[in-house]
Amino acid sequence: MAKIGINIATGSIQQQEMIVGIDLGTTNSLVAVIHPDTKKPVVLKEFDGNSLVPSVIHFGEAGTVSVGEEAKKYLIIEPQNTIFSVKRLMGKSYNDVRNTSSFFTYKVIDDNTESLVKVQAGEKFYSPVELSSLILKELKTRAEHILKTPVHKAVITVPAYFNDSQRQATRDAGKLAGLDVLRIVNEPTAASLAYGFGLNKDEIKTIAVYDLGGGTFDISVLRIAGGIFEVLSTNGDTYLGGDDFDSAIVKNWISQIGVSEKELSENKNLSQELRLLAEEAKIYLSSNDLFTANVTDKQVQLSITQFENLIKPFVDKTINCCKNALSDANLTVDNIDEIVMVGGSTRVPLVKKMVSEVFQKKVNDFLNPDEIVALGAAIQADILAGNNKDLLLLDITPLSLGIETMGGLMDVLMARNSKIPSKASRQYTTQKDGQGSMRIAVYQGERDLVKDNRKLAEFNLTGIPGMPAGLPKVEITFLINADGILQVKAKELRSGVEQTIEVKPQYGLTDEEVEQMLLASITHAKEDIKIRALVEAQTEAKILLDTTAQFLQKNRSFLTSTELAETEMAMEELNSLLPAGTKDSIHAGIEKLNEISRPYAERLMDEAVNKAMKGKVI
Ligand code: ADP
Ligand code: MG
Repeated sequence: MAKIGINIATGSIQQQEMIVGIDLGTTNSLVAVIHPDTKKPVVLKEFDGNSLVPSVIHFGEAGTVSVGEEAKKYLIIEPQNTIFSVKRLMGKSYNDVRNTSSFFTYKVIDDNTESLVKVQAGEKFYSPVELSSLILKELKTRAEHILKTPVHKAVITVPAYFNDSQRQATRDAGKLAGLDVLRIVNEPTAASLAYGFGLNKDEIKTIAVYDLGGGTFDISVLRIAGGIFEVLSTNGDTYLGGDDFDSAIVKNWISQIGVSEKELSENKNLSQELRLLAEEAKIYLSSNDLFTANVTDKQVQLSITQFENLIKPFVDKTINCCKNALSDANLTVDNIDEIVMVGGSTRVPLVKKMVSEVFQKKVNDFLNPDEIVALGAAIQADILAGNNKDLLLLDITPLSLGIETMGGLMDVLMARNSKIPSKASRQYTTQKDGQGSMRIAVYQGERDLVKDNRKLAEFNLTGIPGMPAGLPKVEITFLINADGILQVKAKELRSGVEQTIEVKPQYGLTDEEVEQMLLASITHAKEDIKIRALVEAQTEAKILLDTTAQFLQKNRSFLTSTELAETEMAMEELNSLLPAGTKDSIHAGIEKLNEISRPYAERLMDEAVNKAMKGKVI
């Protein structure tokens, strides 16, 4: 990757800059690069052989800041000033995390529920972006120390389920750490690259990537063909991982030693000590049958059977996600060629066994599961550096994206699971004569009414020149870049007036919310279709009433008094149906009004044609 170049003008030697791959994990973070000689990805290791940097930050009394192994030592003795799992807070509001706030042993500020969370340590407040940037700075410094060259450019990975604001927050953290973030890459995509899948152009494969880390779970189905990576579907849970195994063990133990949940929540030191011991037990049980230890003056123990019973519900949950990911991709287990295991928690034998069972196949687990993502990020960095031009990466959107149309309906421009980068456009027009502006509201979700979906942005396209209703052509374009960040453009094609916004939502959706939104779209499908049909009928009726009124205004004198009376009665009838009428009764009203107006509308049309003919010189 590091190429040597000679500047012809000066004769001096220039080294092309290294682009590093960074796995910014919930639990552990690490850096990898492509080795300049072997051209193979390698993780950067300190002289002690350690590649993992715990994603933990400690703020000392005297204003000192430490990151990694050093900071982890303070988890027990100074929990209030020692920040872990900051990735769970990226792009989140307090509302998003309030249900899990007991998980954090440090202070997550809740003064304003709608705005982004802050963390308090000592007298100071820190945003998750600032905290992540401290971890990234540490990784950058280490990389520079090991590589003995400045590092300015990086590829950073995120879980596939990260939404726009979480990706943006990660990018911002990189910037704050002095890194030019060339690309945000999905972790499962990086992982499959690390296994070398897709590096051979002739290979066609469908791969399931199962990533169970400390804090997040992701399952992705990828298809690789002709050197192109495509994510067919993703599923997962940003609140599921090895941390949950630890918590389950702690819960079990506090009943063993006779401590209540309340006592534990008041005794942060004991709670942290138990957490660390639980992790030790879990790792020990990967290759042993019984773990015992002393806490305060009492003994705790855990057998492999107890452990497996405790974690089975969590593993079951991941298996369900796997099934959903398969059905989203319209595939069955027979279609999956490879299963890639990622994340430290996949070392648990029960996890391997259950994943292997559901896919009816042996899993790929020969690479170190906590290094894979960083290795893949380094390969991606190499592709971006132009050293592997044949590869292209495609990801997908987790929820549908669209805009609000008349009657509060959701008009989808980009369906859920669309490939990204991607572009979609559609034309709309005005409802009123001389309408000079148009409100464009962007939503994310699967429901038919926008009120049930999530609003991402709203803006006005102004300066549309006065034209009769229906004449302006407003083209709305959605553009999702390779990082999954959405840009919305509105352009009136006749006049060229246009406006563009980048959608950076104030705070993100949790994984649960995405799941809930998908679930709601299924459970409400029937009533949604009903409501949509009703709103469409109402909209049609409103438009018909408007145009009929306009017609009458212009052509009143050409109508017989019976025609006029009948029309006005039908209009009144239809108007009265608008608020409470059913879809069918409104349709009947529309039909009736059309029946009445058709004869004279045709008559007037004929007259107009005749007039035009008469005036024509032949
Ligand atoms: P993340 O991607 O969330 O940063 P990692 O992939 O580094 O996480 O995985 C960290 C998790 O893996 C932790 O919960 C840790 O306890 C767990 N872990 C590491 N080694 C083992 C092991 N041998 N057995 C079980 N769990 C393990
Ligand atoms: Mg990970």
